[in-house]
Amino acid sequence: MTDTSEGHRLDPTDWSAFEADLHRVASACVARLRAARELPWQAPPEDMAARVAITGRGMPTTDLFDRIATDIMPHATGNTHPRFWGWVHGTGTATGVAAEMVAATMNANMGGRDQGGAEVERAVIKWLHDIAGWQDGSGLMTSGTSQATILALSCARMRAFPSVRADGLAALPEMRVYIAAGGHSCVKKALEVMGHGAAAIVQVPAPMGRMDVDALRAAIAADRTAGRHPLAVVGTVGSVNLGTYDDLNALADVARDEEMWLHCDAAFGFWTRLADAPWRDLSKGIERADSVAMDFHKWMAVPYSAGAVLIRDETLHLATFRERPEYLAAGADGLAGGDWWATDYGLELSRSFSALKVWATVEGLGMDALGAQITDNCRQAAHMGDLAQASDVLELAAPVVSNLCVIRPLQGEALALAAQLQLSGEAVFSTTIVDGTSCLRAAIVNHRTTTADVEAAVRALEAAARDA
Ligand SMILES: *Cc1c(COP(=O)(O)O)cnc(C)c1O
Repeated sequence: MTDTSEGHRLDPTDWSAFEADLHRVASACVARLRAARELPWQAPPEDMAARVAITGRGMPTTDLFDRIATDIMPHATGNTHPRFWGWVHGTGTATGVAAEMVAATMNANMGGRDQGGAEVERAVIKWLHDIAGWQDGSGLMTSGTSQATILALSCARMRAFPSVRADGLAALPEMRVYIAAGGHSCVKKALEVMGHGAAAIVQVPAPMGRMDVDALRAAIAADRTAGRHPLAVVGTVGSVNLGTYDDLNALADVARDEEMWLHCDAAFGFWTRLADAPWRDLSKGIERADSVAMDFHKWMAVPYSAGAVLIRDETLHLATFRERPEYLAAGADGLAGGDWWATDYGLELSRSFSALKVWATVEGLGMDALGAQITDNCRQAAHMGDLAQASDVLELAAPVVSNLCVIRPLQGEALALAAQLQLSGEAVFSTTIVDGTSCLRAAIVNHRTTTADVEAAVRALEAAARDA
């Protein structure tokens, strides 16, 4: 219910009543988090669209919050459940929920100006530099790795062709960016929106999911002969299909020799750096990259959405994106001050305070717990692989390198088996194709998963395959 007078229209009339309603929302959220283990994905109701169609009539906050809790909150993807391993979905944390509420309360526009939140974001970026083994550098929080990739490759292009901001693409040669076959499609999308087209991406053969470095060198040489400009090589740091890692030191050598940019797609794989041996060494060489993209919303369990880009050269980073028209002029004092404006480092002007949920996760849970969690998931994937290998109706489709386990059913069809387990609520695998056959795929980035969950899911999969 709102006061209809000027200056009050959109605030609660009765703050105490609002507070009571908000406590009920908080209780509903905690109840859902607490019951996450019993709440697998369910198909949304047939009439979902009708239930949420906008009426625009307004309603009392009590009724509104009830509707959100009953009509919307239950119909999620289910990635809060311990046996959800499809695609690469993070689980979210209770700490992150609280931080999101505080961020919304502050309602800070994190594009720039002199405000405390900017230091929170800078602290997060600095922390990422430390994990990457970078002495210094630049960076920015993004909505995810897809956005981060556009920023990184734009910097790469700016370094090679400083005229691009003024003159566009017309005078530039055809560019090429190299990535291991099976590398993530966000790189292709980035090149498309940057105006180079899908033709600019070169998929380098990757036996066992690792880029063949000789084939990379040969591809670069062939493109140079044809008059094309080899712009960047993208190292895959945790592939979506198999969880494999490129030899980043070898790629860094090529980038150095060829005067190319080395970008690393470390969306989830970055975090193996927090794990125990041997996993923590998988991304060796990332300290030599020119840019890195990674997500917090996958393996760091920060609620969606939050990612980041690291750019080695801050001057170049600013040269690529800084734009200060008269209405964004910097000032020595007051709000127009502040020596770090996020908008100078990326595409967005108005942006959310997503740094707070990352900061709260790291400061609240601590690096030891986060690292142990990464190690757990890698062990669980290895265990799942052993169970599949020991089964008479399943086999391991590729070696388990980190947190991904890909299982080939020897009976039944992968897509149908995955759907059956999803619908029964027993487990969520997604599917992929390995060596031409369809397989079930578990990407374990889930802090609720236990060894018992892994064992129960493999038993359910075996039973389904036997019945197929
Ligand atoms: C998820 C993912 C991406 C895309 O990241 P978003 O945060 O979803 O934009 C890119 N690369 C890899 C390896 C991924 O797993």
